[in-house]
Amino acid sequence: MKIICIGRNYSEHAKELGNEIPERPVIFMKPDTAVLKGNDFYIPEFSDDVHYELEVVVKISKGGKYIQKESAHKHYEEIGLGIDFTARDLQSDLKSKGLPWELAKGFDGSAVISSFFKKEKFNLSSLNFSLLKNKEKVQDGNTQDMMFSIDDIITFVSQYFTLRVGDLIFTGTPKGVGKVNENDILEAYLEEEKVLDLRIL
Ligand code: MG
Repeated sequence: MKIICIGRNYSEHAKELGNEIPERPVIFMKPDTAVLKGNDFYIPEFSDDVHYELEVVVKISKGGKYIQKESAHKHYEEIGLGIDFTARDLQSDLKSKGLPWELAKGFDGSAVISSFFKKEKFNLSSLNFSLLKNKEKVQDGNTQDMMFSIDDIITFVSQYFTLRVGDLIFTGTPKGVGKVNENDILEAYLEEEKVLDLRIL
């Protein structure tokens, strides 16, 4: 299983980090060992600035390569939410040197994934999702603000990477990313339903 992630897919978030609006999707990956087990996230010792990034996650249900946009919807049945934990201090350092981001994005526990839900339950082109930190709303996203839709992303990435059943795609974060501190509680909502409940240690 691989985890493909999209960066800068919400223009307001790209701006908050001082990034340019990309002409095509920004792609990076996390290894399968990044998936957090359980509900406790331990801040790694190599970072003083770990940020949460709440994202819609798509689970691939049918493999393929060179998937056309018209048929992209046939390649996923379920969606959920995830947190793309990012060691921002490390990422900024790597970015400034033009180096890959993996150390800042792919460390153990950096991919938090909720349960998955049948996509038919939702309007995927206008899906609300939000993150609360210590009961205060810090991110409030809607998929209508994505620059590249789920189907666009599948079309794009499948030109480069064969998609397999069980692969996950993190589709990018809206604005409002920020630092986590010890003892924070993160709760994520997909529409009205709480789907993630996380303790920071
Ligand atoms: Mg992200």
